[in-house]
Amino acid sequence: MLEIEDVSISYGPVSAVRHVSLTVEAGEIVALLGPNGAGKTSLLSAAMGLRPLAGGRIRFKGEDLRRLDTETRVRRGITLTPEGRRVFANLTVFENLELGAATRRRGAAVQADMEMCFTLFPILAERRGQTGGSLSGGEQQMLAIARALMSRPSLLMLDEPSLGLAPRIVGQIFRLIRDLRDRDLTILLVEQNAHDVLRFADRAYVLSTGEMRYGGPAAPLQNSGALMQAYIGDA
Ligand code: ATP
Repeated sequence: MLEIEDVSISYGPVSAVRHVSLTVEAGEIVALLGPNGAGKTSLLSAAMGLRPLAGGRIRFKGEDLRRLDTETRVRRGITLTPEGRRVFANLTVFENLELGAATRRRGAAVQADMEMCFTLFPILAERRGQTGGSLSGGEQQMLAIARALMSRPSLLMLDEPSLGLAPRIVGQIFRLIRDLRDRDLTILLVEQNAHDVLRFADRAYVLSTGEMRYGGPAAPLQNSGALMQAYIGDA
């Protein structure tokens, strides 16, 4: 579904990602792991069209994304829940969700997806009239994910959804991610919380200082203390 091929990304003279390749097949949860500054966020931003490529190519469902702007990519079915759960603090839960559907025509389908989000996240239904800024951290993360779902993605990219959340809430978010996969969504998940994620990811990649160190099934990584120690450190 997503093919990242030999991609390099630079910030001026600073090279952040070098000749990295990664694929995500339909129906998979793929984890992208690696320490701070490895280039994980840069890679997601490039797939979303928010960062130019210094080299390589990115394809989505076989189509080269090079000439497509971010909005068009969203229409094609890619979406990103950025790091730090950026919900609109002054807008209500309902309005945040409406904005998630900005690329779609308003109508019964959008309405139905709103109901689907409220079923998936009952807490958001309860809080639908409350502002985004008044929600707890975990609720904001749920809202950020729900908002992304409102664009009807086939590929959901999540940047560190567990960051700063209590372990119990992290468990809830990870369960939800598995549920979404079971509802036919494909997921690319950036995480530093490698241990938990490797239990349910289908495949994993390890990025460190802009280079890919591992790409393959998740299970061997779990048992490879040396690799985890070398590239993730805290695992
Ligand atoms: P983290 O988990 O800390 O967000 P990451 O793996 O997502 O890390 P990136 O945020 O992609 O890593 O950063 C990769 C490299 O690019 C880092 O060395 C970072 O300092 C650099 N970088 C990122 N954004 C910019 C920017 N806007 N300007 C200059 N350098 C940047």
